[in-house]
Amino acid sequence: MDGAMTDEEGKPIWGAGCGVFGVFAPGEDVARITFFGLFALQHRGEESAGIATTDGERLLLRRGMGLVMQAFNEDDLSRLKGFAAIGHNRYSTTGSTSPRNAQPFVFAGPRGELAIAHNGNLVNALHLRAELEAQGVEFETTSDTEVIAKLILHSPAPTFEEAIAEMMEKVRGAYSLTILTHDKLIAVRDPWGIRPLCLGVLNGEHWVVASESCAFEPIGAKFVREIEPGEVVVVDADGMRRFKPVESKRCATCIFEFIYFARPDSLIFGKRVFEVRRRMGHILAQEHPAEADIVVPVPDTGISAALGYAEAAGIACVEAIIKSRYSGRTFIQPDQRMRELGVKMKLTPLKEVLAGKRVVLVDDSIVRGTTTGQKVRMLFEAGAKEVHVRISSPPYRYPCFYGIDTPNRGELIAARMSVEEIRDFLGATSLGYLSIDGLVRATGIPKGKFCLACFNNRYPIPIPRDVRLHKLALEERAHTR
Ligand code: AMP
Ligand code: SF4
Repeated sequence: MDGAMTDEEGKPIWGAGCGVFGVFAPGEDVARITFFGLFALQHRGEESAGIATTDGERLLLRRGMGLVMQAFNEDDLSRLKGFAAIGHNRYSTTGSTSPRNAQPFVFAGPRGELAIAHNGNLVNALHLRAELEAQGVEFETTSDTEVIAKLILHSPAPTFEEAIAEMMEKVRGAYSLTILTHDKLIAVRDPWGIRPLCLGVLNGEHWVVASESCAFEPIGAKFVREIEPGEVVVVDADGMRRFKPVESKRCATCIFEFIYFARPDSLIFGKRVFEVRRRMGHILAQEHPAEADIVVPVPDTGISAALGYAEAAGIACVEAIIKSRYSGRTFIQPDQRMRELGVKMKLTPLKEVLAGKRVVLVDDSIVRGTTTGQKVRMLFEAGAKEVHVRISSPPYRYPCFYGIDTPNRGELIAARMSVEEIRDFLGATSLGYLSIDGLVRATGIPKGKFCLACFNNRYPIPIPRDVRLHKLALEERAHTR
C-alpha cells in the first residue's frame, strides 16, 4: 500500500504484512489446498482472507473478513473450481477494516484479466498511478497493488512475462506477489527480497508458492527453495520456468521477519527461524544478564528467545503467563470495562509461580510500549518481586515503509525516549535490548543482506519525500489530537 494513499474515509491505508499463496495443480482441489496454505500463514494476517481460482475460462473469487476459518465455508470452497489458485491473508491494524481492502483483487485490462495477491508496500505507487491516470487508466481501489496490476494489464509489451519485467523496472518497494491469469500462476519477488517468498512441490509434480515454508508441510508439499530477489517464476501447462528481469543490486530482507513476523518453523536464508530466535536469546543473556529466579516468555512472540535466554543464563524458563488459545483478532468490540482490562483479556498470570520471584520477562519487541507496560504491571500485581524486561531486538525507532504495519514515528516509544525513560515508563526493574550486532550475529547471515531501517534509519530503498512527509503529517495529527 502506498503511504500517501488514503481510503474513501480519508484514512491512510498503511502497509500490509500479509501472507500470499499460490498453487498450480490440475486434478487437485486447488481451493482447498489454498485454504490450508492460508491457514498455516494465518499469523501473517488476521484481518481478511481470500482465494481466487481459474478454470481456464474465468477467474473465480471469494473473500471474507476475519480469520481463514471464518472467511470460508464448505460451499465457498466447492464453488471455487479450477486447476490453479492464489490466496491472501491481509494484515493491517490501521486504515479501514473493510471487505473492499481484502485481497486477492481481480482486475481487467487490455491484456485480459488477472487476480493478484501482494505482501509488501510500494513507495512510488502514487507517482505511477498519476502517470497511468494521465494515460486514461481508471482505478477502482486506493491500493498500490492495483498499480502493479494495471501496469501489467496496460503494458504494450508483447508478452505477459515482458509486461511483468516492465512493471518491475518501474515500481520501487516491497512486493512478494502471486498472480493468476486464466492459464498461468506467476510468483514475483522484488529485487531487494524484502518480504519472503518460497517455492515448493506437491506430490512431486505440482508447484506451490507461499510467503513462508511453514505452509508446505501441512498440505503435504516439500520446500524446494526460496524465490530469489528479483526472480519471476511462471507455472502453466508447459511446466515451470523462471527468469530474472531486473538485477538485484542489494538484498535487503526484512530482519523483522526473523524477530517477530515469521513462524518459528519457517526457513529464511535456509535458517530455521526458531533457532535464530533462540540464539537471539543466548546473545541477549550475554549482553544483559540479570540476577533472577525465573525466565518468563510473553506468549507467543517471546517464547523462542526466552528459551534461549534461559539456556544461556542457566535459569529455568517457566510458562507463568497463559495466553488464551483463541485470542486472535475479533471484530466484536469489548465494552469499556473489558477494554480497561487490556492485556488481561488475552493473558493470565500464574500467581503461585510468580509470587515473590525475581522475573526476567522476555519479548521480541516494543513498539508503542502500551501492552508491555500492562504486562509488567500484571506480573507485579501477581506478586513478582522484580521484573527485568529483556527484548530480543534493538529499540524500534523508525517507521517501516515496506509493509510491516507500524505506527508513525511519534508513536514509537523508542523514538521519543531513552532506554532508561522507557524502563521508567514500563515500571520495570531493569530493561535491556539486544544490540544490532548481536541481532545480526544470531542470524548467521552477513549484515549487508538485511534491511535494518527501523533500528538504524538506513532505508535500502529511498523513501520519496512525499511519502515520508505524509507519515510525518500523520504524526503531527496524532500529537495534536
Ligand atoms: P507494545 O508494548 O504495545 O509496543 O507491544 C509490544 C508487542 O507488540 C510485542 O509483544 C510484539 O511482539 C508485538 N508486535 C511487534 N510488532 C508488531 C506489529 N507490527 N504488529 C502487531 N504487534 C507487534
Ligand atoms: Fe523490516 Fe524494519 Fe526494514 Fe520494515 S524497516 S522492512 S520492519 S527491517
